[in-house]
Amino acid sequence: MANDEFLTFKATRRYKNYHGTVDENIAGVWTINNSNPSRSSLGRMKETAARIQTLIRHATDKKKRLRAIGRKWSFSELPLADDGWILQTDRLNYTFRVTTNSNLDINYIGDASELYLAQCGTELSEINRKLETKTRQRALRTSGASNGQTIAGAIGTGTHGSAIDVGALQSQVCGIQLLTGARNLWLEDPADPIVNSGFANKIGAELVRDTQLFHAALVSLGALGIVHSVMIRTTGRYLLESFRRPMRYSEVKKAINTLDFTGLALPIPDRKPYFFQVVIDPTKGKDKAYVTTRYKALCPPSYAPDYETKSGHLMHNDLPGLAAKFIDHIGPLAPLIVSEILGSYQKAKEFTGTPGETYDRTSGKKGVLGAAIAVPIGHASQAVDLCTEAINEKFGPLGVALRFVQKSNGYLSFTQYDPCCVIDIDGLDSKAARDVLKRIYKKFDAAGMPYSQHWGKVHGMTKARVKNSYGHKIDHWNDARDELLPSDDEKFVFTNKLLTSIGIV
Ligand SMILES: Cc1cc2nc3c(=O)[nH]c(=O)nc-3n(C[C@H](O)[C@H](O)[C@H](O)COP(=O)(O)OP(=O)(O)OC[C@H]3O[C@@H](n4cnc5c(N)ncnc54)[C@H](O)[C@@H]3O)c2cc1C
Repeated sequence: MANDEFLTFKATRRYKNYHGTVDENIAGVWTINNSNPSRSSLGRMKETAARIQTLIRHATDKKKRLRAIGRKWSFSELPLADDGWILQTDRLNYTFRVTTNSNLDINYIGDASELYLAQCGTELSEINRKLETKTRQRALRTSGASNGQTIAGAIGTGTHGSAIDVGALQSQVCGIQLLTGARNLWLEDPADPIVNSGFANKIGAELVRDTQLFHAALVSLGALGIVHSVMIRTTGRYLLESFRRPMRYSEVKKAINTLDFTGLALPIPDRKPYFFQVVIDPTKGKDKAYVTTRYKALCPPSYAPDYETKSGHLMHNDLPGLAAKFIDHIGPLAPLIVSEILGSYQKAKEFTGTPGETYDRTSGKKGVLGAAIAVPIGHASQAVDLCTEAINEKFGPLGVALRFVQKSNGYLSFTQYDPCCVIDIDGLDSKAARDVLKRIYKKFDAAGMPYSQHWGKVHGMTKARVKNSYGHKIDHWNDARDELLPSDDEKFVFTNKLLTSIGIV
């Protein structure tokens, strides 16, 4: 297949992710652009979709793997196309307001102004900036800790947000455009009809309302085809009032198992937080925790967000950002130093801003790693005990942070418990840290802990563990895959070593 002006091939032989935790052979990288990158147009999106479908058919004919990637933020080898092709999709960033009800199904409950169509490569921070303007006054309901991911990449692994009453990022998605070699589909849940077939036609898609296909495509692992665009159901703009306080772990233990905050000395008593994060010092004998709470507040119409504050980084939403600090300090005194760094970074702090200001784009250093495990909240403190036990048996430079998320849509959503405690275990990429993670998974297995692992982070996934985590949901997902990709040749195109090792062949 010849390069054209908008789809170009480079025989790059290595895939290296953002943090350098994966560095493997590939056969080359395709980069795709819209024909006019700066002017969003449904017609041009239709052309881009057709171009991608031609590439999928070409990969199928050549028996080459073709894996879409977003920003390469995944710490895991999930985006990899071993000895195959990568399709770089992060330049596909058209966005659209749905300006008229004439595009919507007559049974759509709501108003067109709630809906926002984003092409796959749109960065989440860009979506925030476009939604949260004084004229638009809209916002995402939940965000990851940092917002440099693409929308398709983020939902592709089930990136969890951290709003206590909201599911993972994909729970805001109500329509998905999925491309295979043969089909350009607009998928929706029949229980939640959104657009009409006239709208689907504008992007060259057939409108398909199918529970199984929609819930499979929500968290697709890049293995069902190429996600070309998604419809997001936004909410009214709001502010988040954030507070960070050092507390004793023993004080917050009841709350992490129940999300019952009664009697806990939180910054705004009697108001349920929107966000609750507990960073735990894992070093032996410490009863220290650093607690961030966020409360939703009204956003005045005249409020003008300033994204240059980099507040998210300062408030340490994510341990990957914090973990970068380990690199400069690590040595034989690791436990002491980890404890010191956590302490110095978690001093009391307050900040108010929109979700986009609070969870802005941050960068990390190469050499850090992150893992995340979801457990039912009733098991949270038991899981913390097992994690800290594993860290202290032979110290690895890792910190532990807990965030809370509702059960999320999508068969392969790792935030599948009702609700979930997500345990982020982040630190310096080293043998010691990876050994700790292996010990944690073994301890969880031995204790019969119900858990599932983040698809996009460092993991200990095996076929048995995936089956154990998802049960019959993996069968529903595989049935959807059989329908979307009926031929083995096309299934092969969208898989890789990791997927085949867990039984997705
Ligand atoms: C600093 C930092 C902070 C983070 N914070 C959080 C957090 O708070 N919560 C959390 O859950 N995770 C978090 N993560 C993990 C991150 O959100 C996920 O790994 C996410 O999937 C990365 O998105 P990406 O755009 O980089 O996609 P990639 O890593 O490039 O790809 C991820 C997956 O999506 C697939 N994919 C990408 N584009 C497409 C497409 N167009 N069509 C089909 N499949 C596609 C890929 O094949 C792959 O399987 C964080 C990571 C970092 C580095």
